[in-house]
Amino acid sequence: MSARTPDVVVVGAGIVGASCAYHLASRGLRVTVLERESAPALGSTGKSAAGVRVQFTTRANVALSMHSLPVYREFRERHGFEIGYRDIGYLLLAPEARWERHLQSVALQRSMGAPVEVLDPDDARRFVPIATDGLGGATYGPWDGVIDPHMATHALVSMGRSGGVQYRFDSAVAGIRPEADGGGWRLETTRAETLSCGCVVNAAGAWSGLVGQMAGLDVPVRPKRIQIFLSAPVADERVYPLTVDLGTGVYLRSEGDRILFGLDSHENDSGRNGGFTEGIDWGWLEHVLITGVERYPWWEDLGVDRKGSWWGYYEVTPDNSPVIGANPGAETWIDACGFSGHGIMHAPATGLAVSELVADGRSRTLDISPFGHARFKASPTPVEANIF
Ligand SMILES: Cc1cc2nc3c(=O)[nH]c(=O)nc-3n(C[C@H](O)[C@H](O)[C@H](O)COP(=O)(O)OP(=O)(O)OC[C@H]3O[C@@H](n4cnc5c(N)ncnc54)[C@H](O)[C@@H]3O)c2cc1C
Repeated sequence: MSARTPDVVVVGAGIVGASCAYHLASRGLRVTVLERESAPALGSTGKSAAGVRVQFTTRANVALSMHSLPVYREFRERHGFEIGYRDIGYLLLAPEARWERHLQSVALQRSMGAPVEVLDPDDARRFVPIATDGLGGATYGPWDGVIDPHMATHALVSMGRSGGVQYRFDSAVAGIRPEADGGGWRLETTRAETLSCGCVVNAAGAWSGLVGQMAGLDVPVRPKRIQIFLSAPVADERVYPLTVDLGTGVYLRSEGDRILFGLDSHENDSGRNGGFTEGIDWGWLEHVLITGVERYPWWEDLGVDRKGSWWGYYEVTPDNSPVIGANPGAETWIDACGFSGHGIMHAPATGLAVSELVADGRSRTLDISPFGHARFKASPTPVEANIF
């Protein structure tokens, strides 16, 4: 085989594509990654809040975290690259009405080995100034925190290249069709290049649905604009964990001497530009501040750095869980997309699972069946509640 005939083409050089490519090459496969941007991590990966956590409500998502977080925590020791992991924690503030249910998910997380501390509302004030009205309690994940998604993606790209992965930047996939003999795929790029391969991994993030369409496949992933705001400097020496008020969804965390904060708009504007709405809606900022000030009364005086605020796309599925597995339309097409706001934290597990699926025919280490396409047709599967 020449370098031009890879076994696998990965579409997208975000953190998920880079993880898949690295793991696939580790299994001895020839891998080419096609990325339309000029560098890695310029899609959603570079726009995220960078949070990583074990605190999920479904067994399947906790399992992805329980594989991925140790990888990030030990990345430098295992792989020799600094990826900016900091265990600043996630602090989840649960209203009284949700507290019992929240404790059930803590029991699940702990049963799977995840370290999670249960706090009473006043304890939570050790971490961040909050009003405790209406809170049943709080939980804190000491493994949870942040990484630097750019550093992590670039590390995975370097590791993949050492294993032979070919990266083609400024190479958007413009057309995909099955090989005439049905044995693989032909991909055309905007550089007028054609690649043949046995298998495609669709890691195109918010654009995965569009990439699937090129091949005539249904990939139920749509974009949703998410906005993050940066404050002016905050006079507190503490590093605030990624704190989420589960009652409203308003979240914040320290970023240097400032805070990042936001709220999922749950907007459904898929009619306009296919959901690819651009820019910041400053009216939404007002809504976030008004909603958040009840829990964080010091927001009365919060200054906002408008130039430091930004937006990007979540890549969402109907149940806010990713699609990891073969597409029902073609078994040599693997979808690894639709992370709905947690692709940074689940990229290590996804890369491993995809590599086993391609190399061994099934994911041996992790049970990815809850993330298969079949769930959309089956009876309802547990829906993840900790989506922010
Ligand atoms: C504001 C915000 C906050 C977030 N916060 C968090 C968080 O705290 N924690 C967390 O885990 N996740 C978070 N996320 C979600 C996270 O960013 C994504 O889940 C993750 O980046 C997905 O990675 P990816 O590699 O699948 O997608 P991307 O990083 O989007 O990569 C997909 C790549 O595919 C490329 N591509 C698309 N179409 C084509 C084509 N036709 N040909 C070639 N290349 C193509 C794109 O250019 C892009 O580089 C956040 C997202 C946003 C927007």
